[in-house]
Amino acid sequence: MQYIAPLAKLIENFRALPGIGSKTAVRLAYHILDMDADKAKGLAQAIIEAKEKIGYCNTCFNLSDTNPCHICAAEARDHSTICVVEQPQDVDAVERMRDYRGVYHVLHGSLSPLEGVGPEDIRIKELLTRLYDADVSEVIMATNPNVEGEATAMYIAKLLKPLGIKVTRIAHGLPVGGDLEYADEVTLAKAMENRREI
Ligand SMILES: [Zn+2]
Repeated sequence: MQYIAPLAKLIENFRALPGIGSKTAVRLAYHILDMDADKAKGLAQAIIEAKEKIGYCNTCFNLSDTNPCHICAAEARDHSTICVVEQPQDVDAVERMRDYRGVYHVLHGSLSPLEGVGPEDIRIKELLTRLYDADVSEVIMATNPNVEGEATAMYIAKLLKPLGIKVTRIAHGLPVGGDLEYADEVTLAKAMENRREI
């Protein structure tokens, strides 16, 4: 199928986005053409503005339109506890819980020898600098509960041990509302391992 050039370009750009296949790309492109000119311009402007105004916080490396970000700047937060996560989206997830009052450190990835991601490719050095400079008593490793996330948590824990900082790992287990019989064995094994006295 031969699309007119500007439409083909739009489709190509949509298809380059994660989770968007060819059919959806075409549907979105036609949808844009159907939109009011003002709305389409608003969408384009929102993309430009987000790219221009949002950068990384120089302390925690979360996405922010201020530096430091609003969490690092907040006096009410507990700056002696740092929760280490892989991606900015993970900060949003922990914040939604509304229970956590500490601050964050975003690694922007996890260690993956298979994909060639080593310690120097994620923000580990920046975390260490931060720990030397500030009075931190606990680092919570909240990387993903998969092979890469576990390896990253272990690697950082080893680095922090000589500094005398308490390093904890979030517990993994069964999802609330789930059924034991449907749990996969890795999840069940982790839940058993992390059991506590009641
Ligand atoms: Zn920050």
